[in-house]
Amino acid sequence: MNCLEVRIKILQFLFGELTIVELVELHEHLAECAECKVELEAVEILMSGLNCLYDCEPVPPDLKEKIYLKLAEDL
Ligand SMILES: [Zn+2]
Repeated sequence: MNCLEVRIKILQFLFGELTIVELVELHEHLAECAECKVELEAVEILMSGLNCLYDCEPVPPDLKEKIYLKLAEDL
């Protein structure tokens, strides 16, 4: 798995969309790649901020799109 795939998997992980196999692969990559680990932490902080903002309401679908686009820009 390359870093780009990992960035996408991190988002899927946060939205609870990963299979066990994908989780293991993600974990293995994060153990070796400091950059992706930092990315995961940044996204987790962002998501916890959003949870406060929306007070446990489901994340709006277009927000997910926006986060994907933002990440794509950073790469
Ligand atoms: Zn990586």
